Amino acid sequence: MLITTEEIFEEFEDLDPRDQSQYLLELGYDLPRFSADQQKAEDLVQGCQSQVWLTAVASDDSTDPVISIKADSDAEIVRGLITILLASYDGMKASEILQFSIVDVFNRLKLKQYISPQRHNGLQGMVDRIREISAMYCNAQTSPVAPASNCNIAVKAKRPPVLQQSFDVQKIRSQFPVLNQILEDGQTPVYLDSGASAQKPQLVIDKEREVEEQYFANAYRGKYSFGARIDEELEASRKKIAEFIGSATSEQICFTGGTTMTLNMVAFGWGRRHLKPGDEILITEMEHHANFVPWQQLASQTGATLRFMPLTPDGRIDLEQLETVLSNKTKIVAVTGMSNVLGTMTPIAELSKRAHDVGAIIVVDGAQSVPHIATDVVADDIDFLVFSGHKVYGPTGVGVLYGKAERLEETDPILFGGHMISEVSKDHSSWAKAPAKFEAGTLPIVQAIALGAAIDWINEVGIDAIHQHEQQLLKAATEQLNQISGMKIFGPSIEHKGAIISFRIDRIHPEDLAAMLDRKAVLTRHGHHCTMPLHTLLGVTATTRASFAAYNTLQDVQSLVDGINFARDVLKLS
Ligand code: PLP
Repeated sequence: MLITTEEIFEEFEDLDPRDQSQYLLELGYDLPRFSADQQKAEDLVQGCQSQVWLTAVASDDSTDPVISIKADSDAEIVRGLITILLASYDGMKASEILQFSIVDVFNRLKLKQYISPQRHNGLQGMVDRIREISAMYCNAQTSPVAPASNCNIAVKAKRPPVLQQSFDVQKIRSQFPVLNQILEDGQTPVYLDSGASAQKPQLVIDKEREVEEQYFANAYRGKYSFGARIDEELEASRKKIAEFIGSATSEQICFTGGTTMTLNMVAFGWGRRHLKPGDEILITEMEHHANFVPWQQLASQTGATLRFMPLTPDGRIDLEQLETVLSNKTKIVAVTGMSNVLGTMTPIAELSKRAHDVGAIIVVDGAQSVPHIATDVVADDIDFLVFSGHKVYGPTGVGVLYGKAERLEETDPILFGGHMISEVSKDHSSWAKAPAKFEAGTLPIVQAIALGAAIDWINEVGIDAIHQHEQQLLKAATEQLNQISGMKIFGPSIEHKGAIISFRIDRIHPEDLAAMLDRKAVLTRHGHHCTMPLHTLLGVTATTRASFAAYNTLQDVQSLVDGINFARDVLKLS
């Protein structure tokens, strides 16, 4: 009969600190050992200092089975930790495991005092594995592939198809050098600021290096071999981007400097030509300043009016109230594909239809949505889509402008100079066709080519698989954060949002929290995230933001929670 957590707590509390660590060791003595046959490589838990084998067996083929866990290790203290885990999860259904806060158990036993940070990582690795298996089993219930009864879910063949075939987060993580380093204080970074900039996989870094070391030259100029190679590489990258977002042709993809620059290009290139006093531009209060200030400036320069789509109290666009602001005066609807604070995913296809019905165009700020969800500019009937390279695992300094062919035709360039012209005389100049018309001067050549490599990388992993994985992280993070006292998460429920969580905790200023999380190598962002109007609407001046990407793990979520608990301890709020 397995020891219960209550028995462990009782024993533990009665012991003085010296004997508590001995007790941890002794806890493992009664744990059944795996035979050599049971010590299978595929059941090894990653991230542990010692070897840990862990399997989970569904008790029946019901929709939410009890998960029975077995584990063993070659280190005695880890066997003690395993005993605590087994006692904690004993008899739980898959859904209960997902809802259960194991951190509370760890905190009550003050485990961090008795085990090294590496060992703690290993422990989290086990918890992650158990949670992943439980989550996969829950998913398997809704997947078209029905799970077999009494299946050992840890065995790959029983996993839902997408996760099995295309998503191995540890493999993905291993491709990001920055995430695999040991910092000076011995910790490994837990990067939760991909909403600001994503990290780059080795493939992208290698591509930049390849160009610099092997054939760098200016683009669209030299007819010598290096120049020709650069032109080829740039066009190949352009084609990959076109395919990735569903553009009919590569000519509709223009390389720019990033989202901010591109939104300015659209606002002043298209907007200044088409807007007159009395016209209206429709945005939301949740826009990033990059999709806010240019329209405000455009309105003041043209005499147009800037208006705001109504939002629901949880931060979604209120489609039922849209008619109160959308009319035939509306000329531009400019909206984020995904809020960089609330995580809200906007219903682009619906907005695009409603905008077109009144004769307006739709401009989508894809800075946050393109890295997380499949984009189809044709299916969504988008007039202009913009995004940045550095948020899609690519380099900084490069961005993308997509436009419908007729929209690009009717847009004036706002940057003038070399390459973008057709003819120049002393008193007149005419412009080349897109994309050259919008690519004045020397392009960010190396970055634009490496952006193609980043798109290759995303395609290899699969944007839908990335989305699914991030939604699991979002779910786990939302559940765990909500258990922290004084926690307020902003934004809608997870069905309406992507992998961004912004929050505040009573009596902890976001700046203090970010600094304390940093001490635990948990890297988050704090402040207004370039959305001052949204923060005014929320009634706060700053929030803490954790944003996830393909390389984040459930262990990262756990580290965030642990970091917050650490901050609460330091501030004596626990
Ligand atoms: N739009 C959104 C929604 C963003 O999140 C950001 C950056 O965080 C931007 C625009 C600006 O992007 P960039 O700084 O690459 O120009």
